[in-house]
Amino acid sequence: MTAKAAAGRGAGHQFHPTILREYDIRGIVDDTLFPADAFALGQAYATMLREDGGRRVCVGMDGRLSSPELAEALIGGLGAAGVDVQWIGRGPTPMLYFAVHHLRADGGIQVTGSHNPPAHNGFKMMLGTRSFFGARIQELGRIAAQAAYAQGQGRRLDAPVFDAYVERLARDFSGGRALSVVWDAGNGAAGEALSALAARLPGRHRLLYADIDGNFPNHHPDPTVDANLEDLRRAVEEEGAEIGIAFDGDGDRIGVVDGRGRIVRGDQLMQILAAEVLPRHQGAPIIADVKASQALFDEIARLGGEPVMWKTGHSLIKAEMARRRAPLAGEMSGHIFYADGFYGHDDALYVAIRLLGILAGAEATLADLRERMAPLVNTPEIRFDCPDEQKFAVVDRVRERLEAEGAEVNGIDGVRVTTPDGWWLLRASNTQAVLVARAEASDEKGLLRLKRQIAANLEAAGVRPPEF
Ligand SMILES: [Zn+2]
Repeated sequence: MTAKAAAGRGAGHQFHPTILREYDIRGIVDDTLFPADAFALGQAYATMLREDGGRRVCVGMDGRLSSPELAEALIGGLGAAGVDVQWIGRGPTPMLYFAVHHLRADGGIQVTGSHNPPAHNGFKMMLGTRSFFGARIQELGRIAAQAAYAQGQGRRLDAPVFDAYVERLARDFSGGRALSVVWDAGNGAAGEALSALAARLPGRHRLLYADIDGNFPNHHPDPTVDANLEDLRRAVEEEGAEIGIAFDGDGDRIGVVDGRGRIVRGDQLMQILAAEVLPRHQGAPIIADVKASQALFDEIARLGGEPVMWKTGHSLIKAEMARRRAPLAGEMSGHIFYADGFYGHDDALYVAIRLLGILAGAEATLADLRERMAPLVNTPEIRFDCPDEQKFAVVDRVRERLEAEGAEVNGIDGVRVTTPDGWWLLRASNTQAVLVARAEASDEKGLLRLKRQIAANLEAAGVRPPEF
């Protein structure tokens, strides 16, 4: 039966207007997100999957307390629309992505609230091996509103991939000198896979918070917030370790500190990773988001690659990476994507394996490599509140003003303005009611001038600039 033939059966389902987002579905459990939403999502997704010719989907979940109930409801909805489910069980989001490739499934859904607070949860989806975002997520809402579901009786099969996943990760460790590593899984979903992986690696490994606990009792599993890396930094110092590696709540983002306790940001990490990939891929595009340091784009060019600046957002980067056949891509946020040797998605455990392989094969420590990077001064990512209904209009006003002034503006995602001092960025977040700014210059005086320009442009657009 076609989806259209099923239209009109039963009442339509309305999702809370805030949960169908740009890159995924996200809500607060028992407030904006209920098991009934998961069931309707299963039906709507299965309807799209069947129209696409698919019949079998992998489902996994993170370690949140609400994940089992949402997963059950999701599986029920998928089955009711005639799609077979391969149940992967609990693990990081990239284990679900791996399962879709490994089991040659037609799609995959991970129940996950990523790095958000314990009461949040949501869903990340793939259709085929492509990420599923933007207009397709909105399409789910339309199918559910009309109850235009396909009908059927799907089966549920257990399909554990944990051992195959850990084996696949460990296979790409290239070996060399023994390393001392501290890991922090933040009680997130990567903990079990990390424990199994670390046990297979040579060297000394100390694990922090590797037990999965949906209350996140130690610190929030979000390595982009520096305070969440404090325990890791302290442990690296105690151990005299060379590197500390942290994961976000669902294991698709990485955070790194060097042996001197300094945070190695996503764009700095990318310089190290690109240097290993590019000798084998001369001329290949390497993608980084608009927040990344100019030092990264310059380094990619110096190493014989084609630097590509792209929009922030893991789904957007993945899609562009596939389109350009780029071997490596990465975001400031710690989403890093390997197509060289891997599947082109963001698996932070895999990134860790490749990074450790690079260090194990080098004389230089991570701190040494960081020392060799261009000595630019920059701000971190500055995030400040701006209502959803205003944030894009503010950026548009700033863009118009800059264009009228004849400024050098890259408008791929917000405005990235190049001046003799360096560059500054202003963009609207796709996922939160915030504006994001960043600036980078060759010295502190230049950085101050750039910050003043950001402030002046915000004021001219009627927004009070943040403290920075
Ligand atoms: Zn995540």
